[in-house]
Amino acid sequence: MENEPLLHIAFDDTDSRVGRCTTHLAFKVAGHLNRMGAHLADYPLLIRLNPNVPWKTRGNGAVCLRIRTNDPAGVIDGVKQFVQEGSAIGAGANPAVAFFLGERTPDALTTFSASAMSDILSRQKAEKIAKENHVQYFMYGNGQGLVGSLAAMGCLLENGDYTFEAIAYRKQENCGAPRVIDGQKVIQCSKDTFPNTFNNYDKNHNRVLIAPHGPDPVFCGVRGERPDTVVCALAALQPEETLDGYMVFRSNQGTNMHLQKELVMKDAKAYSAGRIRCTVKEMPQAVKGGHVLFTVDDSSASMIAAIYEPTGLANVAAKLEVGDKIEIGCGIRKPTSKHPKVLNVEYLLVLELAEVFDVFNPLCKICGKRLKSEGRNKGFQCEKCKFKDASATKIFLPRKRQLDLGLYVPTPKAHRHLTKPLQRYGLEKSSFTFELYKNWYSEN
Ligand SMILES: [Zn+2]
Repeated sequence: MENEPLLHIAFDDTDSRVGRCTTHLAFKVAGHLNRMGAHLADYPLLIRLNPNVPWKTRGNGAVCLRIRTNDPAGVIDGVKQFVQEGSAIGAGANPAVAFFLGERTPDALTTFSASAMSDILSRQKAEKIAKENHVQYFMYGNGQGLVGSLAAMGCLLENGDYTFEAIAYRKQENCGAPRVIDGQKVIQCSKDTFPNTFNNYDKNHNRVLIAPHGPDPVFCGVRGERPDTVVCALAALQPEETLDGYMVFRSNQGTNMHLQKELVMKDAKAYSAGRIRCTVKEMPQAVKGGHVLFTVDDSSASMIAAIYEPTGLANVAAKLEVGDKIEIGCGIRKPTSKHPKVLNVEYLLVLELAEVFDVFNPLCKICGKRLKSEGRNKGFQCEKCKFKDASATKIFLPRKRQLDLGLYVPTPKAHRHLTKPLQRYGLEKSSFTFELYKNWYSEN
């Protein structure tokens, strides 16, 4: 099978807000490819893109399947049909499917993919790159899904970090009914598999995070570091509902891939994502809703940074002082008629604390009472004994800061798909060798 041609298949934007789901379509396509006798050359990839793109459907995720087959033309026909029939075309989905035959995907796709993590890319640009690089593609609706398709195809996850997710799917007749998941089992499973699964449960809010709430066919998904761990964790949940099956994806979820680009405030475009090293320029202000706003400066420009209440970091931000040096991961909120562009903070790294001082008037040399200022540069006078001290100066006492240096990450329930959870710092991977775990897929 090593000498069979390698076919890269990617699709995106097959879902809409009324149900259906791109990963579910991938599950169906993978079943079809299994039955056709195709061999996987990698786990199915679930690639999350810049979460700030305004026209995304729920998760802004695209998929790519890399397979070896002696019948690429037959596979292409079959997959096209799945995408046409399995997409919510006309109900909000604008799907595209792309195919590339060859051992290595073109470098232009890798570059395109890297930009899709932090920028906004046009369908026109995607089409141009596809044509120049012999990528076959088919678009439906407005074809916006081509951007995600090419980005997924160009995302190799070979030299950088990645994670796995085992996603379980519901039978069609159960879609729409409430999902019954035993919270105690989720908590137990989280403990048993720590730190090799993540974001199952938000203990700060006593909330289960593995299941969505909409009408889509996903029953639940367990995320983690290895394919066997996520499958075993999924099995340990023992749901009572009869499921359609599950599949393991390799993914950039939980890796902060969207925050790798260094942004410069002066050039920061609306909807882009990245990180910025900057200095706190104005004191944090708490605003309605428990959010905290503060001005930061990166020597190219100043901008307002916002830390929202649901992240659980507003109390940390409130302790920042002018002069503190920080790094923030952020998305750029578009300007409105009332507000300029705002940096929506996704993580806060406190690098250096400014020294802050409490300022006092000096004490009276005669009676020891605190002196009163006579005005700027006019010295001090004692209100009790009337002693005048023209040479005394204000006293500056350093204040102990209530903030520690280090990294602050939102509470799990406020995470985006790409947010790197605290427990993953230090677990990042830097290479990948494909070895298919035997229970990567199950169909009932
Ligand atoms: Zn006095």
